[in-house]
Amino acid sequence: MKKKTALVTGVTGQDGAYLARLLLDKGYHVYGGRRRISVDNLWRLRELKVHDKIELIDFDLQEIGNVTRAIKHTRPDEIYNLAAQSFVGVSFELPVTTSQIDGMGCLHILEAMRDLVPEARFYQASTSEMFGKVHEIPQTETTQFYPRSPYGVAKVFAHYMTQNYREAHGLHASSGILFNHESPLRGQEFVTRKITLGLARIAAGQQEVLELGNLDAKRDWGFAGDYVQAMWAMLQQDVAEDYVIATGETNTVRYFCERAAALLGFDLRWEGEGPGELGIDRKSGKTIIHVSPKFFRPAEVELLVGLPEKSRVKLAWTPEVKLDGLVEMMVTADRNRVASGCHTQ
Ligand code: NAP
Ligand code: GDP
Repeated sequence: MKKKTALVTGVTGQDGAYLARLLLDKGYHVYGGRRRISVDNLWRLRELKVHDKIELIDFDLQEIGNVTRAIKHTRPDEIYNLAAQSFVGVSFELPVTTSQIDGMGCLHILEAMRDLVPEARFYQASTSEMFGKVHEIPQTETTQFYPRSPYGVAKVFAHYMTQNYREAHGLHASSGILFNHESPLRGQEFVTRKITLGLARIAAGQQEVLELGNLDAKRDWGFAGDYVQAMWAMLQQDVAEDYVIATGETNTVRYFCERAAALLGFDLRWEGEGPGELGIDRKSGKTIIHVSPKFFRPAEVELLVGLPEKSRVKLAWTPEVKLDGLVEMMVTADRNRVASGCHTQ
C-alpha cells in the first residue's frame, strides 16, 4: 500500500514535534513546514530524535504563494495546521501579526487545498481560548465563543473558516478545540514551563526569584503527547467534525506552583494577595515567587474546563497523563537540563 503523506505546519513547535513522531511511528512520510528564522528552531525535533526522519520544507503561513507551492509540491493526504503565534500574552502587543498568522494563515491553506488537493484531509488547531469569558462550565463543542485576546479572536476566524470550507466546498476539514496542553517541550513563556524551569533554576542556585502574574487563573491542563493522538484520530473519521480535547479537570496556576515546588524540595507558603503576593520557602525563609503586575493580562481568561465526551465516544480518545504526572514529567526534565547546563530551550 502507498505510504500516506502528511504536511505538518509548525513542525518545530511543541505539538509539531510530538505529532511528527506519532505520524512517523504510523508509517507516514512527513513533510515538516518550517519558517526561516535566524535562530536554530529544531531542538524539539532533535529531542524526540525525528529531525533527520522528516522532510523539512520552507513554509510561512503569511505567504499565500509559499503555502500554495508547498501544497503543490508535497500533495499531502493529510494537512495538520499547527503553525501559529501561539502565545496569548504577546498577541496583545502583536495583534496584526497574530491575526495574519493565526487567522488568515489558515485561510491561505484552505484556499490552496480547495484548488489543489480537495480530497486531502485538514486539521485546524483551534483552542479553548475561543471560549474566553466562558458562557458555561464545562465547555463543549456547542458552547458559545467569547474570546478575550487577539489570539482568541484570530483563532475564532480560522475555526469558522474551517467549518465554512467543510460546508461550502466539501473539504474534509476538522477543528480540534484543544485545551491547554503541556510537556517538557513547551515554550518557556507559557506559565507551566516558566514555573518548572524557574523553580528548577532556583533549586540549583542559578536564579533568585520567579516572577509570575495571576496565580488564580484555572486551566484544564493535559499532556501534548496525548493530545496529538486526538488530532490524528479526527482525520481518520469518515465525516469531518469539530471536537473538544481536554482532561475535564481544572486547576489553578497556584496549585501548579505548589506541586512543582514540592517536587523540588521546597515547602511553599503564600503571603499577601494580588500583585505583590509572595511565595516563601518555609525551609530557607527565602522568597522564591513574586507576583508582579507585569505578567497580568489586559483581559484575562479566568477559568477553562472542557468536557471531552464527544471525543471519548467518537474518537475513542482519553488522556492518559494526569496533572500531577505532567508536573512531575516537566520538573524532572527541567531539573536534568539545569544540572547538565543545557537549559536554553
Ligand atoms: P508552539 O510551540 O508555539 O509552535 C508554533 C509553531 O508555529 C512553531 O513551529 C512556529 O515556528 C510556527 N510558526 C509561527 N509563525 C509561523 C508562520 N508565520 N509560518 C509558519 N510557521 C509559523 O505551539 P504549540 O503549543 O505546538 O501549539 C500548536 C498549535 O496548537 C498552535 O496553533 C496553537 O495556537 C494551538 N493550540 C495550542 C494549545 C496548547 O496548549 N499548546 C492549545 C490550543 C491550541 P518557530 O519555531 O519558527 O517559532
Ligand atoms: P494560555 O492559557 O494560552 O494563556 O497559557 P499560559 O500558560 O500563557 O497562561 C495560562 C494562565 O496563567 C493565564 O491565565 C495567565 O494569566 C496565567 N499566568 C500567571 N502568571 C503567568 C506568567 O508569568 N506567564 C504566563 N504565560 N501566564 C501566567
